Amino acid sequence: MGMKLLLFDVDLTLINSGGAGRRAMSRAFTELFGNTNGLHKVSFAGRTDPAILREALEHHGDEWSEVIQEAFKRRYLEYLVHEIARNHEDKHVEPGVEPLLDTLNQRSDITLALLTGNWRAGARTKLEHFSLWHYFEFGAFADDAWIRNELPAVAASRFEENSGHGIAPENVYVIGDTPRDVACAQPFGARSVAVATGLYSYSQLKAANPDFLYHDLSNMNAFLNMLEGKNEI
Ligand SMILES: [Mg+2]
Repeated sequence: MGMKLLLFDVDLTLINSGGAGRRAMSRAFTELFGNTNGLHKVSFAGRTDPAILREALEHHGDEWSEVIQEAFKRRYLEYLVHEIARNHEDKHVEPGVEPLLDTLNQRSDITLALLTGNWRAGARTKLEHFSLWHYFEFGAFADDAWIRNELPAVAASRFEENSGHGIAPENVYVIGDTPRDVACAQPFGARSVAVATGLYSYSQLKAANPDFLYHDLSNMNAFLNMLEGKNEI
């Protein structure tokens, strides 16, 4: 059987940080620009961290620059370490994630990796908090591209660097909670797997036309059957 590459989104697909990411970004933005609420109009769902920053700067009337982004990123990553450690009633690992990753991790025909809009260090802070970081061999992150649609190709080339083998796009699965996750799989030719554990309902995600759609990741048999080519919508 051919190798399959599974690319998991982080926020609201694997984990709910209990708002730690948004709080850390708000603190970083406020430290740089004052208490301007620059971020409050910005939608985070499925966006890359640098895309969120660019939109916040636009609302605030400031121009993006590499220097501003590095200053913001450094502060955000520091605050995130503190914010993720705080108690919050919404903070949790999404249903079924741990047993699913445990099972998939046993299989030599499956490579687990990340495809996320988080900067790599932020993804690591969040996933290490929940003891999930170790499952993933590599990832495509916001450090690689601020446009999410470019990330599947980055992940595929990283797979090739690591394994010495190419991977056909139809053996790549992009798993995420937003229409943006679904949309980034399509131009690459990857299969999209939507999970309704985020801000989008099952029916909203269905409208984005994913290849597969689940309420959450708790139905392991359905997920394993999907990898065998069954259960397509
Ligand atoms: Mg997400």
